[in-house]
Amino acid sequence: MSEECNNKIGMLYLSATPIGNLEDMTYRSVRILGEADLIAAEDTRHSRKLLSHFDIHTPLTSYHEHNKLEKGPELVEKMLAGDTIVCISDAGLPGISDPGAHLAMLAIEAGINVSPLPGANAALSALICSGLDTTAFTFYGFLPRTGKKRRELLERIKQSPETLIFYEAPHHLKGTLSDLIKALGPQRRAVTARELTKTFEEFNRRTLGELAGYYDEHDPKGEFVIIIEGFDAENEVAAEPEQQLSPVEMVARLEAEGMGHKDAMRETAKKLGISRRDVYQALLNTSSTALTEPASHCSGPPSPEGKA
Ligand code: SAM
Repeated sequence: MSEECNNKIGMLYLSATPIGNLEDMTYRSVRILGEADLIAAEDTRHSRKLLSHFDIHTPLTSYHEHNKLEKGPELVEKMLAGDTIVCISDAGLPGISDPGAHLAMLAIEAGINVSPLPGANAALSALICSGLDTTAFTFYGFLPRTGKKRRELLERIKQSPETLIFYEAPHHLKGTLSDLIKALGPQRRAVTARELTKTFEEFNRRTLGELAGYYDEHDPKGEFVIIIEGFDAENEVAAEPEQQLSPVEMVARLEAEGMGHKDAMRETAKKLGISRRDVYQALLNTSSTALTEPASHCSGPPSPEGKA
């Protein structure tokens, strides 16, 4: 066993694993994973494949969100008895939107040495290639899925000046972009970083509104990190008047400026960062409200199809 693993009581390592590309496994992680007494893995079947690839045959045990309360203290006992344990998750850094942080806390409380084996992480990899400010940033991981907590968080970050970092699954990307636009407006510069370190790695650098339009037309596939520039009072004030227009008002304004109906709908969706279907629905709603009101109030917008 190496010097690093040679304490009287054992110790806990938190090791990064690749987020796609196996070559991102570090020499040091491979060595210590091979020398440790036990590996605590989020999903043992998934990790066994990775470990076999590196010819690591250390015993594995499962440690995840649903067994951490029973399993954590057991692992601490083992370390107090002299074992060196390495905690890994399915990808990237344990403890970052993954199990690991709770075990680190338990180990620290028990006086056990906790040490990192650094490596791949999706949030920071996306941030450094985003082209946005990297001097100050806030990582939020996954937004609360729905409801009050989600609204409260979005409200809280509205005026946060730091770069914002989120994780998102492909099937939730459009809904999340739409909520982010409602809270932050469509004009903020933003980046989606997709499939980092994998064959189809892609950075999409646009405004939030343009990203929503893009994913309306290109189905999101793969894993995503969303990076958004922080609040900048000057930009927001400049962008405000247009953002405050409703879709119906904006279509009407663009038509008054001479744009055709379909182009006005497309431009409105882009400027407000909503889907064309949302614009269409807003126009439909206004038309049907107008129809149920007395004739004298019937001054609604042009019909969605651009016909009288
Ligand atoms: N512990 C991991 C880390 O350090 O990055 C994060 C695990 S979290 C459960 C999984 C999320 O991370 C995905 O839904 C996605 O948002 C992001 N992610 C992981 N791998 C990624 C990749 N190769 N490209 C883009 N995003 C990725």
